[in-house]
Amino acid sequence: MRNFAFGKAQSVAQASASASLVAEAMLAPDGGAGLNDLRIVKAGGIDLMDLMKEGLLAPAEVTSLAAVPGLDAIAPTPEGGLRVGSMVTLARLAEDPAIRGRYPALAEAAGSSASPQIRAAATFGGNLLQRPRCWYFRLAEFRCLRKGGGHCYAIAGENAYHAIFDNRFCAIVHPSTSATALVALRAEAELTDADGGTRRVALEDFFIGPDRDVQRENDLRQGELLIAVLLPPSAGLSMKHMKLAQKESFDWPLADVAVVLDLSDGGACRRASIVLGAAAPTPWRARAAEAALTGKRIDADAAAAAGRLALDGATPLSGNAYKAPMFEALVKRAILAAAS
Ligand SMILES: Cc1cc2nc3c(=O)[nH]c(=O)nc-3n(C[C@H](O)[C@H](O)[C@H](O)COP(=O)(O)OP(=O)(O)OC[C@H]3O[C@@H](n4cnc5c(N)ncnc54)[C@H](O)[C@@H]3O)c2cc1C
Ligand code: SF4
Repeated sequence: MRNFAFGKAQSVAQASASASLVAEAMLAPDGGAGLNDLRIVKAGGIDLMDLMKEGLLAPAEVTSLAAVPGLDAIAPTPEGGLRVGSMVTLARLAEDPAIRGRYPALAEAAGSSASPQIRAAATFGGNLLQRPRCWYFRLAEFRCLRKGGGHCYAIAGENAYHAIFDNRFCAIVHPSTSATALVALRAEAELTDADGGTRRVALEDFFIGPDRDVQRENDLRQGELLIAVLLPPSAGLSMKHMKLAQKESFDWPLADVAVVLDLSDGGACRRASIVLGAAAPTPWRARAAEAALTGKRIDADAAAAAGRLALDGATPLSGNAYKAPMFEALVKRAILAAAS
């Protein structure tokens, strides 16, 4: 690993000045080692240190966000939702009474991610911005399409943990489990640049697929920081997040699902959000399933039909067709659990 200078930003402006785009630096075969001014921000450091140790990223300077005031706050918004700072840890997200009470699907997603030790250090912002876990991507020897090469090794190679949707060019699955719940909740990202400009963008639009840009997973721009995630009001909503993994602990999901339902007093579904994680390069809206539930009373038949429809448009690869029945079952279970 290349030697690097380490600093602590004391303000958002200082941190923004160090926020080079990791995705861009990783396009260089040397991970940016040739760029003597490559400065990268660090949150919990779990993914950043992995990339550096794997020889994929070689910054000259690493700037910690830990001392920037206000980034670890959870506060109510004027609209009746919550604003969750990007430096809130996954452990706190899983345990905070306001998140557990009002956004249980998010608490479940954060609480089922990684291990207790990792959740204690890993931040919400870093989790959403971590790079994909495709094993070819993580090996410096494979200069695949996402790292600026000309070829995807997974599509015709070892793809057991890869995408079953939107997998024509690059078959990563989005690595963040919390992102599945956030897209179902219709949350927004709050971003700030070095000049103090801020923008809000729906997370569904912030995460981008390979057809828009095969080398990036999101629309973060040079010098921008993810400041917070804005959760809309959740009064009257029922929700559930569920995950299936190979191991019970510290494992990424093979499949995960978030369901958010707006049910009338009579039990009819006014609106459904059904999002699949570990399914596609972005958190994947199961739109046909959502449409099928709208206007219906939730029962086992309606949930089972939605489970089948959640696979609409799936194009499994040679090694990952096993995911299809997993998603079908998880969608059905998560709908019934949310409605109960
Ligand atoms: C064994 C294991 C199992 C895991 N299982 C799961 C799982 O089941 N589900 C899951 O979701 N994750 C899982 N992870 C991934 C882990 O949760 C992430 O690596 C972690 O959340 C990253 O957060 P961090 O704060 O450490 O980010 P960092 O590593 O500090 O940062 C990640 C990236 O984001 C950038 N960054 C960080 N914060 C900001 C900001 N505010 N603004 C702009 N840029 C920023 C950094 O420059 C870096 O490029 C697992 C990891 C391991 C090692
Ligand atoms: S799936 Fe994407 S990241 Fe993995 S080898 Fe193919 S192009 Fe690279």
